[in-house]
Amino acid sequence: MTEETWGRICADLEKTIGKNNFVTWIAPLEFRALQDGVARFGVPTSFVGDWVNRNFGDRILDHLTRNGVSVDRLEFAVSSARPVARAAASAPAAPAQTQVRAEGDLPGAPLDARFTFDTFVTGKPNELAQAAARRVAEGGPVTFNPLFLYGGVGLGKTHLMHAIAWELRERAPELRVVYLSAEQFMYRFVQALRERDMMGFKSLFRSVDVLMVDDVQFIAGKDSTQDEFFHTFNALVDQNKQIIISADRAPGEIKDLEDRIKSRLQCGLVVDLHPTDYELRLGILQQKVELYRQQYPGLAIAGGVLEFLAHRISTNVRVLEGALTRLFAFASLVGKEITLELAQDCLADILRASDRKVTVEEIQRQVSEHYNMRMSDMIGPKRHRVLARPRQIAMYLSKQLTSRSLPEIGRRFGGRDHTTVMHAVKRIDELRASDPQINEDLELLRRMLEG
Ligand code: ADP
Ligand code: MG
Repeated sequence: MTEETWGRICADLEKTIGKNNFVTWIAPLEFRALQDGVARFGVPTSFVGDWVNRNFGDRILDHLTRNGVSVDRLEFAVSSARPVARAAASAPAAPAQTQVRAEGDLPGAPLDARFTFDTFVTGKPNELAQAAARRVAEGGPVTFNPLFLYGGVGLGKTHLMHAIAWELRERAPELRVVYLSAEQFMYRFVQALRERDMMGFKSLFRSVDVLMVDDVQFIAGKDSTQDEFFHTFNALVDQNKQIIISADRAPGEIKDLEDRIKSRLQCGLVVDLHPTDYELRLGILQQKVELYRQQYPGLAIAGGVLEFLAHRISTNVRVLEGALTRLFAFASLVGKEITLELAQDCLADILRASDRKVTVEEIQRQVSEHYNMRMSDMIGPKRHRVLARPRQIAMYLSKQLTSRSLPEIGRRFGGRDHTTVMHAVKRIDELRASDPQINEDLELLRRMLEG
């Protein structure tokens, strides 16, 4: 089958399943290959793949066969490449225009039109980073160099860097602003080596006014790239050019990064993006919902759903966004209001994955505190009732709240045998039936541990 055949089938499909369905589900498919009766497609997420397979699989097969393609199965695999057009890509007008500006031979990566200061929601965990980014984006005299932003995955590092770049391009279009990932920096460097054009590479990077390198932890352990990065860095700092760096951890904590680079990175302002809190997550969700309202007019969302998601979904904003995207796509497809039940159904896997993981150690600590005993007695050999009972409770909770096996739990309680743990679980189960106090204690402890 050729791309052309697939294109024709797409046109047919659009007629039979309707434009909305087509745009949501079929357009993101990327035809890869046909081999041994299997047609392979790339999909942006596994959810899309499953959904298409379940709901449109037969129809696609039918269309393929009717177009003379001999196929008996479809296969969907998640594409590693970023989808070109993502949902809710409501590009703010100004940056989209400035993008047209000739970039000449600048080595940067394209900027995401959605990543601006306007769309960046601030709260306690990220206000410092946002303020620092804003300051740099004002393009005044260079006060802290470099600006080093760090934080866990999906907390907004790339978003902030793009926002700085957009803002600078608007305020000072004459500046040569370059944004790229450390990986792209390395790629450029290796390419220059291969083409014996180090002169070109050096003069290119030394000619920029603002250099932003994203995910710099990537070059740790890559010695010659680090070297070159260090020289570029120094040359720019000497010329008083602004540098902005991001990484997934603090400079001092990046393993295999040369000390001289670490100390250079620490010279400027180092700010971190903390894991999100409930308020920030809710704020982000509310903002995204506003965007979706434009995309899916008429779609209603019941009260309490956003609060539920903000409460239950992990600290990673990317996961939060993904959940909302899926929810809206799903609801628009089935034409239903987004209720709590719909959300729980549609997002079961995400909710499960972001359930807080409780450890045996946390349980031991919490239980010791509750019963006023020492941690050391929790795992120690003493067998008095006053110590043994809480210990049994901790074992019981460990079995209930973690995925550890009985022997693993025993080991964490000072190397006790798995039969001891088994006995504890049985004993507490019995007590729960007869002793309301124990029941109450267990409920309280469980709530504290899971909260
Ligand atoms: P990082 O680079 O830290 O891994 P990103 O900048 O790529 O994270 O952010 C992941 C996603 O979450 C992006 O779509 C981004 O727009 C969004 N995001 C993160 N933080 C915020 C925020 N404070 N306000 C709005 N969107 C955010
Ligand atoms: Mg990033």
